[in-house]
Amino acid sequence: MLRAIYPGSFDPVTLGHLDVIKRSCKIVDELIIGVLNNSAKTPLFSVEERVKMLEEATKGLKNVKIVPFEGLLVEFARRMKAKVVVRGLRAITDFEYELQMSQTNHKLEPEVETMFLTTSIEYSFLSSTTVKEVAAFGGDISQFVPSAIIGRIEEKMQSKIKRRV
Ligand code: ADP
Repeated sequence: MLRAIYPGSFDPVTLGHLDVIKRSCKIVDELIIGVLNNSAKTPLFSVEERVKMLEEATKGLKNVKIVPFEGLLVEFARRMKAKVVVRGLRAITDFEYELQMSQTNHKLEPEVETMFLTTSIEYSFLSSTTVKEVAAFGGDISQFVPSAIIGRIEEKMQSKIKRRV
C-alpha cells in the first residue's frame, strides 16, 4: 500500500492545494494531509481551524486523512509509515526551496521520496497569503478557496476587524 503525506500550513486551504490533493489521491492509496503546527509562525487560523477547514474541503475524498503535526517532516513520515511526500510546484520561485527541502529530507531519511506535482495553470498564481490579503480588504475570494470554507474565512476577517476598533 502506497501512503503519502502532503504537508503544509494550509492557512487557509486554497483551490490550488485542493487540486494537488485531488490529483495525488488518484496516484496513491492513502493521502495524509499533514497540517503543520509551527510555533515559530503566527498563522491566521489555529491548527484546529485549519484541520476543520481541510475536513470540510475534502469531504467525499475517501482515501484522505488529515493529521496535525509538529517538528521534523521525516519523523512524521516515519510515524505515519509513509514513503512519499507530496509537494506542489507553482513557479520557478518555489523550486529552490523545495529542492533544498527534498534533498535535506532525503539525507535524513533515504527511504522517503518527495513527489512534485506542478500546479494546474489556473492556480499557478494562488497562495494562502494572496487569499488573506484579498479577504482582509473585503474582496471576493470565491474563485480562490473551496466554497465550503468561504464563510469561515469571512468570519475570521470580521472578528479581526472588530478587535481592531
Ligand atoms: P508552506 O507553508 O509549507 O509553504 P503551503 O501550505 O503554502 O505550504 O503549501 C503546501 C504545499 O502546497 C507546498 O508544496 C506548496 O508549494 C503547494 N501549493 C501551494 N499553493 C499551490 C498552488 N496554487 N498550486 C500548487 N501547489 C500549491
